[in-house]
Amino acid sequence: MSTTPAASSRPPMLATAEALGRLLDAARQVDGRERVGTLDALNRVLAADVTSPLDVPPMHTSSMDGYAVRAADLAGASEGAPVALPVSQRIPAGHAAAALAAGTAARIFTGATVPPGADTVVMQEMAHATDDGHVAFAQTPAAGEWITRQGADIRRDSVILPAGTRLTPQALGLAASVGCAELDVVRRVRVAIFFTGDELRMPGEPLEPGAIYNSNRFTLRSLLAKLGCEVTDLGIVPDRLDATRETLRRAATDHDLILTCGGVSVGEEDHVKPAVEAEGRISMWQIAMKPGKPLAFGAVRRGDEGSEAFFIGLPGNPVSSFCTFLLFVRPFLLRLAGVTNVTPRVHSMRADFSQKKGDRRNEFLRARVNESGGLDLFGNQSSAVLTSTVWGDGLIDNPPNHAISAGEIVRFIPFSELI
Ligand code: AMP
Ligand code: MG
Repeated sequence: MSTTPAASSRPPMLATAEALGRLLDAARQVDGRERVGTLDALNRVLAADVTSPLDVPPMHTSSMDGYAVRAADLAGASEGAPVALPVSQRIPAGHAAAALAAGTAARIFTGATVPPGADTVVMQEMAHATDDGHVAFAQTPAAGEWITRQGADIRRDSVILPAGTRLTPQALGLAASVGCAELDVVRRVRVAIFFTGDELRMPGEPLEPGAIYNSNRFTLRSLLAKLGCEVTDLGIVPDRLDATRETLRRAATDHDLILTCGGVSVGEEDHVKPAVEAEGRISMWQIAMKPGKPLAFGAVRRGDEGSEAFFIGLPGNPVSSFCTFLLFVRPFLLRLAGVTNVTPRVHSMRADFSQKKGDRRNEFLRARVNESGGLDLFGNQSSAVLTSTVWGDGLIDNPPNHAISAGEIVRFIPFSELI
């Protein structure tokens, strides 16, 4: 994220990069690991290195349907003077191969073991089988062609997936390729979430005057699900200090993180911050970012245990809660889950728009990639306009007090790096 320039206009709020740094410094991997079946390990985080007990492939294999030969036996073969060899064996994939007798060819198929003695495979399109059990070649092959050598992918005893790796479909395939039926993973992070706002209703309920739907519940629950968290949804909590404190106490007991949405500003109806101060502590509040300024970070005491649950209070505006989740909650949760690399890759891209006035806060602008490979900006950047998040492909990380001119290269974080 952009750092605030050392200008005299430095805002009193925390710069985003500094806030994120502090948040990640406080994050500790949760205790506890479990062994799960490799097929059930998608999105989990490795608690230990995976080391390969074997070479992959475990033997030299053919990467074509064709004939395994000794290249020297075909020396001098040409269109005018083809060389014919007797076919001495047939090796389908999954079957053992006998040593190749000199001056013969072995019929071979993709994935089959190359017989000892053969040093090359000629693809069947370049060979002419004859009725009398011979095969003719009109070219001299180079040694080593169409052979995948033993260990070409993975060497025995090498670490193929280090601890701290988040298991993607490809990583599960790689683990399975060395025979891992089970994996040691970090236990899931337990998150309690609740929503504040007397105006909130659930889809399916009627909307009386003044009410709105709790859209953030759907966005945030889905983001948590994608991160593989174990979620307790405590629903909508009334805008009252006692109710908020009660819910915080309940949530702290058996969760690693309490995530709240709304009520974290300075209005009379905003009870989250005072409630957390009464039940624990607030260590950071108000970040110099737009959207998302009121983001709060702290901890809530757990009964008499002397331990605490982490707390992150997200602003209620739908775009603010979405962006602050992606930029702060996501890396924090990944760290709790033991992931080593939590930083999204930032792309340098051309702005195909201009924005005359920079904001004094670090802006995260909803933008999308156009057909000429530049970025278009969504017309309404209000933190209440959720449409911008569906229209966009990602966020432009625009430093404080920075106007953007068309053609300029900006920092773009695609949603694919964040969701
Ligand atoms: P707050 O952070 O509570 O001051 O809320 C800021 C704005 O976001 C208000 O307009 C709220 O009505 C709206 N808001 C708060 N929570 C939600 C939610 N869960 N879903 C949709 N909008 C919300
Ligand atoms: Mg509110």
